[in-house]
Amino acid sequence: MASVTLKNIYKIYSGGVTAVTDFNLDIEDKEFIILVGPSGCGKSTTLRMIAGLEEISKGELYIGDTLSNDIAPKDRDIAMVFQNYALYPHMTVFDNMAFGLKLRKTPKDEIKRRVEEAARILDISHLLDRKPKALSGGQRQRVALGRAIVRDPKVFLLDEPLSNLDAKLRAQMRTEIAKLHKRLGTTFIYVTHDQTEAMTMGDRIVVMKDGFIQQVDSPQNLYDYPV
Ligand code: ADP
Ligand code: ADP
Repeated sequence: MASVTLKNIYKIYSGGVTAVTDFNLDIEDKEFIILVGPSGCGKSTTLRMIAGLEEISKGELYIGDTLSNDIAPKDRDIAMVFQNYALYPHMTVFDNMAFGLKLRKTPKDEIKRRVEEAARILDISHLLDRKPKALSGGQRQRVALGRAIVRDPKVFLLDEPLSNLDAKLRAQMRTEIAKLHKRLGTTFIYVTHDQTEAMTMGDRIVVMKDGFIQQVDSPQNLYDYPV
């Protein structure tokens, strides 16, 4: 649980592309923030800078009260879930979910407890011994969420996590992710280009265009839509 503050953040890639320009945003502790905008507007770059996977060219990033520009990704207490799940194909579901904890030298019984609890929350307890290739798309996405949850992160970053799912499953997972946010009480930053996800899931929506923030508002004000 932590606030995230972005102050005058810029990202200029080495080739010269300015992907993010003067990005300013105060994300509150426990808030569910949505980043929307057309492809190429800088959403993923912003998320990757928060995760520490991409260097910030200029500006300041705070996680809670800590200036995070120089903190390594593994020390940031941030978990990220990707569109393509990024599961390890040769590992079981259990081991996929346990991997990050093993790297951090978490005791075995603690790993088992956390993985089993996350599996219960996500309704995948019966799948722990399977390999990813024996799972449906929706199940894989749950495992990816589970792998993030077990770390009990302060901030949860999700990069278009539902875009590989069919419409019916997307609708179901929208509800589940919203529930998960309430249950975990963690700050969520969620990238999408899906207007329904933006309208129904977030506390506030950040609309980006060409690397700039165009607008920040509640779904109600932004879309004039009875949510
Ligand atoms: P979005 O997530 O909104 O689709 P991105 O953050 O992926 O946008 O990309 C923003 C801009 O930065 C685009 O113009 C893209 O081509 C460029 N870009 C993204 N990643 C890189 C990279 N590794 N090197 C150079 N340019 C990049
Ligand atoms: P190691 O982690 O050294 O491989 P463990 O004794 O911790 O050995 O576990 C052996 C394997 O059993 C793990 O790699 C994991 O795949 C599996 N495993 C452990 N606990 C569970 C569980 N609750 N459900 C399913 N598989 C489990």
